[in-house]
Amino acid sequence: MYDYDLLVVGSANADLVIGVERRPDAGETVLGSDLVVHPGGKGANQAVAAARLGARTALLARVGDDAHGRLLLDSQREAGVDTVGVLVGGAPTGVALITVDPSGDNSIVVSPGANGRLTPGDVRTAGSLFHAAKVVSTQLEIPLETVVEVARSLAPGSRLVLNPSPPQPLPGEVLAACDPLIVNEHEAKVILGEAARAGEEPEEWARLLLAKGPRSVVVTLGGEGSLVASADGISRIPSVKVRAVDTTGAGDSFTAALAWRLGLGESLADAAAYAARVGAATVTREGAQVSFPTAEEVAAL
Ligand code: ATP
Repeated sequence: MYDYDLLVVGSANADLVIGVERRPDAGETVLGSDLVVHPGGKGANQAVAAARLGARTALLARVGDDAHGRLLLDSQREAGVDTVGVLVGGAPTGVALITVDPSGDNSIVVSPGANGRLTPGDVRTAGSLFHAAKVVSTQLEIPLETVVEVARSLAPGSRLVLNPSPPQPLPGEVLAACDPLIVNEHEAKVILGEAARAGEEPEEWARLLLAKGPRSVVVTLGGEGSLVASADGISRIPSVKVRAVDTTGAGDSFTAALAWRLGLGESLADAAAYAARVGAATVTREGAQVSFPTAEEVAAL
């Protein structure tokens, strides 16, 4: 009875990448490689990751009326994402300007552009999408007041998955709607603030985060796997051992996969175990969206 397994509300960016011998200091100009432009942004990434796995996915986002916006719309449609909720105009498409040196260290400047113009009013206007979606997933690359409106717009019986990235302290109303809140170590520490000093163990962060109101919490630990926590207790989900080539996008594909599997009715632990396979497949390939696996590739892992 739902039209979508997953509605992703979030950012869409063009990632502009230039390889350099050395990243420039203040006032300095360096020459770099040819420019490579990739579709990115956490919202766009999650939507592509879910659709590639076979989830019926819609994206609510805002892009500019420009070439980068068209690139993002094309990549969503190619993956099978319904772009009826992608608004066009109001500001240039969000951009991440990335310089990468031979050691892989990078410097990034983000211009949120149209992502910063995705308003609570846009969320209210897209109310029918919320009623058509079993699970709603969002992140923090859009204005916080828009995320608050997302939490208020959930249809009865649907659930919210939030990856608070980039992290900032969250209102209780948003925390209470999360099921689960998905954080890595850095995000856990920012959300907990002073309370994070109480312990260095992820189990302790999970307990402290749960006490802030979410119905469930997932702490991702890179190659160490993840930890799921709810009123039923805390358990460790091991990672799948693979040869990691590039970890970009692992958090996004993990989150998208987890959100989809929860919507299919799996337990949090089972959904996290599936998501671990998706995250592992993602790190075996270079890039973000291009590295997201299909369900067949996950099964073959
Ligand atoms: P991102 O780098 O995208 O911001 P993140 O910090 O949000 O990622 P991670 O904890 O790095 O998220 O990764 C999410 C999940 O992907 C992990 O819980 C794990 O299951 C899987 N994963 C990440 N890195 C590896 C790895 N090297 N080997 C196997 N699985 C991995």
